[in-house]
Amino acid sequence: MSTKRDYYEVLGVSKSAAADEIKKAYRKVAMQFHPDRNPGDKEAEEKFKEAAEAYEVLSDADKKAKYDRYGHQAFGPGTGGFGGGNGNMEDIFSQFGDIFGEDIFGNIFGGGGRSRSGGRRSTGQRGSNLRVKLKLNFEEIAKGVTKNIKVKKYVSCNTCSGSGAKDKGSMQTCSNCNGSGQVRKVQNTFLGQMQTVTTCSVCNGEGTTITAKCHTCKGEGRVYGEEMVSLDIPAGVQEGMQLSLSGKGNAGERGGANGDLIILIEEEAHPALHRDGLNVAFELFITFPDAVFGTNVEVPTIDGKAKIKIPAGTQSGKIFRLKGKGFPEVNGYSKGDQLIHVNVWTPQGVSSEEKAMLERMNESNNFKPHPDKNEKSFFEKIKEAFS
Ligand SMILES: [Zn+2]
Ligand SMILES: [Zn+2]
Repeated sequence: MSTKRDYYEVLGVSKSAAADEIKKAYRKVAMQFHPDRNPGDKEAEEKFKEAAEAYEVLSDADKKAKYDRYGHQAFGPGTGGFGGGNGNMEDIFSQFGDIFGEDIFGNIFGGGGRSRSGGRRSTGQRGSNLRVKLKLNFEEIAKGVTKNIKVKKYVSCNTCSGSGAKDKGSMQTCSNCNGSGQVRKVQNTFLGQMQTVTTCSVCNGEGTTITAKCHTCKGEGRVYGEEMVSLDIPAGVQEGMQLSLSGKGNAGERGGANGDLIILIEEEAHPALHRDGLNVAFELFITFPDAVFGTNVEVPTIDGKAKIKIPAGTQSGKIFRLKGKGFPEVNGYSKGDQLIHVNVWTPQGVSSEEKAMLERMNESNNFKPHPDKNEKSFFEKIKEAFS
């Protein structure tokens, strides 16, 4: 896979560019590389697709936020991704409807011969996106999980199959636009004849008019209900990540496209483990005699318990590493480790007998600290453990 260029770079705008500026920049780039202006030029076509992909993301507040946070990997395979990213030309042209459709530039490309959606549109309003929070525990995050959740939302009306009409006879092709949803006008300008395309005002661009409404949905083509949605959560997701399932949001009105379902990942705290990126940390407490003699201990890991050996003479603050016992990288190959931070437990209160014993110990030279001068500093150890 080739590396993708930064979307802001593709459109030639800064990260702080406003929506207007992004739209303008996209228009400029798209016009420059439009296939009608560069017939047979593969490189121009690639640039054109690249710009469309960049615009699809940067023009959508949700996708833009995701991109700003996670970069291209926000839309990698397995995350549910986003539709149309990799350049189906028809998708890109249909996107043009929004940006070029209703002004004088609408037909600057070619003679209006390119059909945007094959004539008949019959598209009602698109459904809105839905956001759902999803709480996952460490084990689910580490292995990936399939969750079936019940989503309350607008669903397509069964009675009228989403058309909003009482029956077939009460749905008529709009006579104003002949079902195309668009009205073309030819204007004479100083540049010559220009065609403009505007949305049909009779049917609001839907291509059909309804004479009698469906009783179930009152003509909306959708009803409020619920749907079981199966979510495939890839391994390695993190608190705050968003996955989007295209078409699983609210149903559109009268057969309009569905919105997306956006899943916001939340992490359930683990009773003993702490997450830091791909690594997990565990605070281990051992007794002073165990630190002196060495011991075997059981420690919790993301998936069950693991036995580790504490060698004789282990210092408090020592960090042991269980390789590969951390989290996998989402859509990647690397895996984190589990870090075990050793703490030697200091008793908080002792009997008089213990006190006498400890005082005796304190007189022995073996008990006097003599740190190794070559030992790494605390900061170096932390840095190394979490690298
Ligand atoms: Zn209905
Ligand atoms: Zn019409």
